[in-house]
Amino acid sequence: MKRQHHPLYEIRTDGRTVWINATDGLIGRFSPLGIDVHANPGSHEHCLDCRSVKQLVDPWAVFVLSMREHHNVVLGKSMQPEWSKHANG
Ligand SMILES: [Zn+2]
Repeated sequence: MKRQHHPLYEIRTDGRTVWINATDGLIGRFSPLGIDVHANPGSHEHCLDCRSVKQLVDPWAVFVLSMREHHNVVLGKSMQPEWSKHANG
């Protein structure tokens, strides 16, 4: 399990899926099944930017941008799963 430090969130990957968790729940997940970008648990909204990765040319770039926009989380290059480097391109 690889981790990236963040003052508010736990960011980790097993090399296939990346999880970003607040103390009370998931706010981001990147996996071959899809992208989930959720609001902070307890807020009124839930899904902010959830989608399948199948139609995306560069799903990792989409996820990185979305996590930065919605949660101010800047994911490092070392967190990117190998499979997504040649996903649908
Ligand atoms: Zn969702």
